[in-house]
Amino acid sequence: MSDTSAVDSESKDAEARWREVGPRTWILRGAGYGINVGLVVGTERALVIDTGVGPVQAAMILEAVREVTALPITVVNTHSHFDHTFGNAYLAAHGVDDIWATARCAEDLAQTGEQQRTLVAELEPGMADDAGPNTSIHPANRVVEDSPVDLDLGEISVTLFHLGRGHTDNDLLIGAGNVLFTGDLVEEGGDPGFEDSYPADWIRTLGKIAALDDLYDVFVPGHGNPVGVEFVTAQLYKMRTAVRVTKVAMDEASVDMTKAIPILPYGPEQSRALLIRLRTLARWKWHQSGAV
Ligand SMILES: [Zn+2]
Repeated sequence: MSDTSAVDSESKDAEARWREVGPRTWILRGAGYGINVGLVVGTERALVIDTGVGPVQAAMILEAVREVTALPITVVNTHSHFDHTFGNAYLAAHGVDDIWATARCAEDLAQTGEQQRTLVAELEPGMADDAGPNTSIHPANRVVEDSPVDLDLGEISVTLFHLGRGHTDNDLLIGAGNVLFTGDLVEEGGDPGFEDSYPADWIRTLGKIAALDDLYDVFVPGHGNPVGVEFVTAQLYKMRTAVRVTKVAMDEASVDMTKAIPILPYGPEQSRALLIRLRTLARWKWHQSGAV
C-alpha cells in the first residue's frame, strides 16, 4: 500500500503521529526538539522536509514515514542548522538519493557541521562524538540556486525557493498545495533564533512570505504549530520594532547596550542574541567600508 489512504485505513499509529495540514501533506508530531518534519505524498514519490538531529531521530522519522507510504523518498533541508540536517546521512544510507537544499545551505553545512556537533551532545551523543553508523555530516547533493525548482511527486508538485536572507543566509521555502513550509524563518511557540541571522533582511523576507497569502493559507514554521498569514505579519512587526530599538541603543554609544534587553519584545536569551548579532553585522560593515 503506497498511497495516502494508508493513513486513514491502516494505521492508528500513523494517525496519531501525523497531523494533516493540507491535501497529501502532513507534519510529524513529537519529532523531538520541537521540529516540524513535513511529508508530502504524491503518487510517484514522497517528499520529507528536514531530517532531525542525528541518526536516532532520523530512524524514527523514516519509520513514521513508512507507516504512511512505501514510495521512494526525496529529502529537502530548510536550512543548515543541525536540527534540520543531521539526519541526512541516515536517510542517504536508507535509499534516499536526492537531498535538496539551497547551494549556500550545502556549503554552510560542509563548513560548520563539525562545529555544530557540540549542540547535540545531550540529544544524540553518538552524533555529537561522530561515533557509530550514519553520523557523518552529509550536505545536500541537489541544490536550488536563484530560480525556484519544481518537483513533481505525481498528482502534486512542490516548489522549492529562496526569498532572501533571514534566519540564516540559506533558508529554503517549500510550497505544497496551499501549504508553505517556512523553516525557521517563522517560529511559533518560541522566539525567532537570531544567532546566524540577518535581521534587516529577515524583515524583508517575512514581508515577501506574507505577500504570498493568495497562494498559501497554511504556514508551517520550523518549530511549533502551523499558523496563518496574520502570524507571519505579526512576527514581522515585532522584529521590526526589536531591530529599531536595538539600533537606537547601539547608536547611543554612551548607553550600555544590554540595557536595551528588558525593553525588547523577546525573552532575555534571544534579545541578547539579536543584540550581539546586530553588533557583529555592524562591525563587519564598518570593516568592509575601510573604516579601519
Ligand atoms: Zn534554525
